[in-house]
Amino acid sequence: MTNEVLIRQFFLLIDARAILKIPIRQQDEDWWAWELEKHGNYSVKSAYRKLYVMNSRGDEEMPSGSGDDSWKKIWKLQVPPKVKVFWCRVLHEFLPAKEILHRRHTEPTAFCELCGADRESIKHILTECTAAKMFWQEVKIITGVKLLSLHPVSWGSDLLMDELCNDKEWAIFIIGMYSLWMQWNQRRHGDVHKPVSVAVRWSLDTALDLWNMNKPMKPVKERNSVQRWRVPLVGRFKCNTDGAFYLDQGQSASGVALRNDAGLFVGGQVRWYPHGLDALTLEALACRDGAALARGKGVQRLILETDSQEFVKLWKEGANQRSRIASIIRETREISSSFVDFSVVSTSRSCNRVAHVLAKQVSGDNRLGEWQLAQPV
Ligand SMILES: [Zn+2]
Repeated sequence: MTNEVLIRQFFLLIDARAILKIPIRQQDEDWWAWELEKHGNYSVKSAYRKLYVMNSRGDEEMPSGSGDDSWKKIWKLQVPPKVKVFWCRVLHEFLPAKEILHRRHTEPTAFCELCGADRESIKHILTECTAAKMFWQEVKIITGVKLLSLHPVSWGSDLLMDELCNDKEWAIFIIGMYSLWMQWNQRRHGDVHKPVSVAVRWSLDTALDLWNMNKPMKPVKERNSVQRWRVPLVGRFKCNTDGAFYLDQGQSASGVALRNDAGLFVGGQVRWYPHGLDALTLEALACRDGAALARGKGVQRLILETDSQEFVKLWKEGANQRSRIASIIRETREISSSFVDFSVVSTSRSCNRVAHVLAKQVSGDNRLGEWQLAQPV
């Protein structure tokens, strides 16, 4: 019996392949080496890392020492832990796509129930299926970013390892695919899944945050081109408003930040909206909440800033418009009548960042319906 036959007989296929790849030395004596470190010496850190990967996979079928570079890249990502776990599972094909289950003999068929394709692979779910195509089409319309054509086998590690695209595109792909996976899971469990526009909006918000976090600081010279938030004229207050989506829960929140003519915070507020809303409705509610907060604090002259140009356009059209946010606009107008001076203006996303960050503060355990940042003036 040859060595190769013996190895194949005694080891799992995936380990046998890894063992057979090791070049055989003819003259040197054998020695023990710790495979998880380049220098060959044992380290506790690498052992823990290995254990962690094995636990997160939930089984033992991992060839020794493989995939370490991908692992490092994944755990360095500035993304929520769930997204990291998702990518770990993508790389190890530890996700219940039908094609994978079929291969493991736990699913009689491999076809996709949504579009009828022969094989419902992970790549199919995330890039090729009907829902994925709609998702990436909408991403392209909003951002101009087009999904790359990816290698059928190595696409997951290519996306994580290679310099296939710029950082912004990369963030959109990483987060977008996670979002599509969430959608797929909800469909599979018979839950009501979110409209594609909500999933896209959440993905782009999160991806943009990720991209901003990873972006190296620009030299001072270039900063002039980035719009900055400006203090209002003397005697006026400015309220920045924005919304944020929570994909897991299908819920959303508005965030508002009120500042005076010295640029100091007067108050802030986050309001949780438990029902799935579309982006425009959420922006409109954020504006209404901002106006109400300022009125509650006795502000007389207010500039309301939003990064929704659509809201500003509809606001300017006045009482005659019949958009789906007409009633929210009416309510905001009623609130605005108690101000001496009130205007709504659009601003860039970079100027409105504080409101966006606020709107993201009610996740996890901190889901309060409403809270204040500062004492009333
Ligand atoms: Zn499909």
